[in-house]
Amino acid sequence: MLETPHVALGIAMAVKTGNPWVAIPLSLASHFLLDRVPHWNPHFYTETQKFGQPKKISTYIAVVDEMIAIALTLFIAYKFMPDVNKSFLILICSLLSVLPDQIKIPYFFCNRRFGLIKKWVDFERSIQVEVGPVWGILTQTIVVLVSFYWVFS
Ligand SMILES: [Zn+2]
Repeated sequence: MLETPHVALGIAMAVKTGNPWVAIPLSLASHFLLDRVPHWNPHFYTETQKFGQPKKISTYIAVVDEMIAIALTLFIAYKFMPDVNKSFLILICSLLSVLPDQIKIPYFFCNRRFGLIKKWVDFERSIQVEVGPVWGILTQTIVVLVSFYWVFS
């Protein structure tokens, strides 16, 4: 799944529970739950197998997705200031919601394709439920909208 829906749900958990003991483990666990929702994302793994690295267009999509995810996180964290605890919890939960993907970056972009990181990439691949781009973008848009509705309701 793209990073933006992951952080949207992580942020919602931080805002709605306000409790680090609940929100921190839930935001990390939500990553694996959302990867089970049928989705579409660039095919880094297949491209890396075929061409030795991800395609330019896939990297571009991922960079834009990461920038949107960071901007959303900072925007919502800022909105809850001066409640520093809440803002900080938003930052932590956002980070944890995407951590399982972020630790794969060296595999795809720094040629670290062995050992634990390879095992992790194989595991993450095995839990994905992928569908075509139309349905796969729609499900992610719904996750983002529902999460933000939850944040602001
Ligand atoms: Zn993932």
